[in-house]
Amino acid sequence: MECFHLAQKAVPELIEHLKKSAPLYAPHRKGEKSYSFERVTNSGDVVLDYNRTLLSLKKYFLPPIERLLRFSIQKQKVEEADIKPVKRIFFGVHSYDMQAILRLDHNMIEGHPEAGYILRRQDAIFVGISFEPDEYHFSRSVGIRVEEMEGFDLFLNKVDKDYHLFILNKRGSELLKGFNKLKEVKEIVRFERNFKNKIKYHYNRIPEVFEHVYHSDVWKKVAERCVGCGTCNLMCPTCYCFDVRDDVALDIQSGERLRKWDSCMLTPFAEVAGGENFRDKYDQRTRHRVYRKFKYITDREGVPWCVGCGRCTAFCPAGISLTEIVNNLIQDYEHQQYAKTGVVA
Ligand code: SF4
Ligand code: SF4
Repeated sequence: MECFHLAQKAVPELIEHLKKSAPLYAPHRKGEKSYSFERVTNSGDVVLDYNRTLLSLKKYFLPPIERLLRFSIQKQKVEEADIKPVKRIFFGVHSYDMQAILRLDHNMIEGHPEAGYILRRQDAIFVGISFEPDEYHFSRSVGIRVEEMEGFDLFLNKVDKDYHLFILNKRGSELLKGFNKLKEVKEIVRFERNFKNKIKYHYNRIPEVFEHVYHSDVWKKVAERCVGCGTCNLMCPTCYCFDVRDDVALDIQSGERLRKWDSCMLTPFAEVAGGENFRDKYDQRTRHRVYRKFKYITDREGVPWCVGCGRCTAFCPAGISLTEIVNNLIQDYEHQQYAKTGVVA
């Protein structure tokens, strides 16, 4: 791993240089407080000191809605969507969003590989950037440092006003060929960024808490405020549930098969034939959502399936905080343990 000094004023030149290798996507301001990854036409539009984008990079690899195939009964023909691999550079990605991509890779590639996801994902290049945690980020609590560089080709760590640029692999090194604005770094600065938002326990202990809180009152208390809008799932970079439906033309001779993101917080998600719904209450749905992030998949894979981006809290219209839910569950667990043993966990 090599590290160089990059002056802040040279960042637009770096973006222009990288754009020569492939279409480049980076955060842009959308409205007063929102940001979105968009294709860069003008490097001056890129905002690097953003807190989080509304949607993560998931939208590029698993689009919110996509056509899987077209069919025609008359012609007895099925035409599958023609997805081609595409080389793209994603610039200014935070470590938790990179970790979310690595988790999605696991979900989409293990078992029955998802061809469309793999084709869109395989040539992606990632340039990471550090960030200052705000009141919603808690990625450190789920084991992801601001400077976590796994998955990236290049990484920019902000040091004072400028950056330390890390070259993490051969591809990163090739991208920088001909770029002459880098200076040697004499000393690599390492520092811990302070997270205001935290989960009380180390993430290794959270599954143990979830062994004991399935019937906690916390779920009902959260449900009193939840309006079941599904925003928390739809914004989540590690949620990957989708619905597949056929859109048939009026003459019922042709149509297309569409795949759309779905949310386990929406009423129809768990509806089955006959109109039964095995999670028709908000508390059941909230519990399922949170168990998916900290218990069910974690038991199998060994890491939380939440990356601590804070989106589900920042964008919840009811102001429901995920860390508050988990910390209240921890408190509930501690009370249970104390009642049983007289020992504070
Ligand atoms: S975003 Fe908030 S209100 Fe909407 S479903 Fe999620 S927790 Fe409930
Ligand atoms: S559960 Fe919330 S904080 Fe965790 S990854 Fe999803 S949106 Fe981010």
